[in-house]
Amino acid sequence: MKIVLQNLTKKFPSRSKKSPGEVIAVNDFTFEIPDGKLIGLLGPSGCGKSTALNLICGLQKPTEGKIFFGEDDVTNLPPEHRGVGLVFQSYALYPHLTVLKNITFPLENLRGADKLSKEEMEKRALEAAKLVQLEGLMDRKPSELSGGQQQRVAIARALVKTPRVLLLDEPLSNLDARLRLQTREEIRRIQRQTGVTTIFVTHDQEEAMSISDMIVVMKEGVVQQIGKPQEVYDNPVNLFVAKFLGTPPINIFQGRVSHGRLYIGQESILSLHDTPNGEVTVGIRPEGFILQQDGPLTCGLTRVEVMGRDISVVSTHPCAENPSIRSIINAENMVDPEAKTVRFALKPHKLYLFHPQTGERIPFTPE
Ligand code: ADP
Ligand code: MG
Repeated sequence: MKIVLQNLTKKFPSRSKKSPGEVIAVNDFTFEIPDGKLIGLLGPSGCGKSTALNLICGLQKPTEGKIFFGEDDVTNLPPEHRGVGLVFQSYALYPHLTVLKNITFPLENLRGADKLSKEEMEKRALEAAKLVQLEGLMDRKPSELSGGQQQRVAIARALVKTPRVLLLDEPLSNLDARLRLQTREEIRRIQRQTGVTTIFVTHDQEEAMSISDMIVVMKEGVVQQIGKPQEVYDNPVNLFVAKFLGTPPINIFQGRVSHGRLYIGQESILSLHDTPNGEVTVGIRPEGFILQQDGPLTCGLTRVEVMGRDISVVSTHPCAENPSIRSIINAENMVDPEAKTVRFALKPHKLYLFHPQTGERIPFTPE
């Protein structure tokens, strides 16, 4: 089932005395979520991710705009008639009920023609439990399960009514690092297996990048960029997106274009075609640095961290935004840890220019 959002906007009255007026939590969303895909809705805390999800499932009404599931306009449909499965950060299981009873719970309320027999309910619960590999634990209570298992019960409960759309709001945030990794792979597998159109909300870029077919990057209620994770990483439209994606993060420098050359400080680090003279913000991905004895960019060497396959060179530069610059270099290269400075050449496709005020990307052609 594809989902179409048309000029979707949600405004809340501001509760702050300092800035009265309205908070625009979701601002003019217009995009299509293709059938059967997993979409990562990504952005910092407070950017409107949960509000967007609540609009899609019907827990909140939009101020403006429309929502379609396939060809159906569901904008005014109550949540229980939309056919959405919901999973939240808190598992919200009933502690006194068994896993089986927790999973069958949404089926108990079906009335009229949809009403199911006890046997049918248990059959469906078992199918959902098998999807999340919990079929052996049906008689346990939530307190007898790990956090990861509890979240899988919540996922089975969301799937038991075979929803048209699955919505997950930061579902992994309560899990420890190892379980988070395992459960996110599990969610990816279940999504592939069921083919249900899924929206996965997270503030964790690595999480979103690793499991999504497509990511939607948001800032302050406004969609910044939509695309395949690698495309967005390789081709950020602005400084915000470039900074938000990637670990270690992109390194930012104050730079200047003058007569076809890009300068950082006094050093000319790249020749460019057709870029007008002026101040620019330069972003260089950690993997964009090449160790080179006579390289054009000279940095102060802080330390070298050996990480097996790669080494991480931590350095400084007076024009860098952050106190340390992180570059990731193949471990076959040698760095003298006693040296005072380190020099780099740069990979042009890992270097980006941005407008120093607006943060918009400035395209350039390297020579
Ligand atoms: P996220 O899930 O990305 O952290 P939210 O969607 O929860 O963000 O919130 C987006 C913005 O809307 C925030 O500024 C938040 O304070 C505001 N907001 C969310 N819900 C309400 C509400 N019920 N009333 C007023 N403001 C709200
Ligand atoms: Mg939220």
